Amino acid sequence: MDLKELIKQINKNTAAQIEQNKLELLLQRWELEREALRSPAPEELVLRPEQEEESFPEPEEVEPLPSPEPQASDKGEEVSSDIAALWPSLKPLPAAAPDSSPACTAPEESTHPQANPKDQERMAIFGLEGRNCEVHQMIGNYMWDEKTKKSFDIGTNNDSLLPMWWNGSEPLWVTMQKMRKKVNMYYWPGCEVEILGVRPDYCRLYYYYPSDADFRAAVDDAVESLRNGSADMAAVYYERNDVEGHHHGPLSAQRKEATKKLDEVLKDMNQKIKAKNLQNDLNVILFSDHGMTELQWMEKVIELQTYINLTDLVKMMDRGPVVNLWPKEGKLDEVYNKLKVVKSMTVYKKEEIPDRFHYKKGRFVSPLTLVAEPGWFITESKTKLPYWENATGIKEGWQHGWHGYDNEFIDMRGFFMAYGPDFKKAYRAAPIRAVDVYNVMCNVAGIKPLPNNGSWSRVECMLSSNANLARPFALSSCMLALILRLLA
Ligand SMILES: [Zn+2]
Repeated sequence: MDLKELIKQINKNTAAQIEQNKLELLLQRWELEREALRSPAPEELVLRPEQEEESFPEPEEVEPLPSPEPQASDKGEEVSSDIAALWPSLKPLPAAAPDSSPACTAPEESTHPQANPKDQERMAIFGLEGRNCEVHQMIGNYMWDEKTKKSFDIGTNNDSLLPMWWNGSEPLWVTMQKMRKKVNMYYWPGCEVEILGVRPDYCRLYYYYPSDADFRAAVDDAVESLRNGSADMAAVYYERNDVEGHHHGPLSAQRKEATKKLDEVLKDMNQKIKAKNLQNDLNVILFSDHGMTELQWMEKVIELQTYINLTDLVKMMDRGPVVNLWPKEGKLDEVYNKLKVVKSMTVYKKEEIPDRFHYKKGRFVSPLTLVAEPGWFITESKTKLPYWENATGIKEGWQHGWHGYDNEFIDMRGFFMAYGPDFKKAYRAAPIRAVDVYNVMCNVAGIKPLPNNGSWSRVECMLSSNANLARPFALSSCMLALILRLLA
């Protein structure tokens, strides 16, 4: 059965499964609640924007890792600038004017959110709660809980629907639903899951991967639902950039073609917004949860079987830039020492994981975490690499792009753009972090942010003084996301 079929089946059976597992879920919730009562409140959470400078120190300064030299194919990429033509705030800026507000950092470059190493895919999947992964607990697309022996294999197993993975944080759409605001979500992985007992009003189920035609229909539906008042916020996820980037590389013609298609849809969206006379009522936020870098198969593959005996492990989760290992009892130091000498990757015991990853305190973090250097890929053996069907019908194609590396590696940066009545026009903000997007969205949605790890001071400068007048719509992609908001 292929992945698409499996997801369909899971979705079809979700209600029945939840019924069947009711007792188990209740027990797990009870257990989570008991744990929450025992655990002190996360110390890094920001309670109020004005408190953040005192309560949430900036991460330690780390020299950014160098980005590979741009390749010839990266130059001259032409993406139509229809958005810029329709929305003056998106016109290319030669140099942004420094903001006079002392709370805002002087703009230096385009706004690129930084993602956590393992948080990068996850933010688009779940996201929108503004918390570091060690706080929201969802530390990767593949996780294992040593206590229950259950695994989270994103979108492919029934156990991935269990609240134990999802209830570590309250995403924006849940908060909005609780406030009786209506949220429509399209292809947003996770919108089918009940989080803290809440689902969005409408969830168009994610599948791998939404076609351009389906994406276009979703955007149309989202705009119309905001116009007719059936939604207060809409969010759409676009995945093709990520898919083409993985398969062919982030600088490939295929990835660029996907971005052009995306641009065409956004152009049409902007025209529809104008035709519906909504241009002064809608806020649009586009962002990506991560960037991507070129992979060097087969030259840069680290095969773990070369260095350790795989039977010394109870469990191994994930492959790629970050791999999680649970050694058998008494084997931790032996496995650790053997991996310590491996070049082009670092092995960490939990306590050694750098604080700046915002990762090590996570409940599902394994005893050993491996992090590869940019461009390198960790797997058991080359035969276990995640090949893809490159039109051959057989999974034998190499992957050429990946993300999830060190969050200081500049290729891992995503982007953030916003326009609409709540945002300043022709303003280029300084770089923000992935967790900062939440505060922007809350402000635009007129919602008081829950405690979060984002910084208000990094984002407040992009908002216009008359911000907070309007309703929201969100659209997202691994390489791009967008939010709209209507004036109430
Ligand atoms: Zn990806």
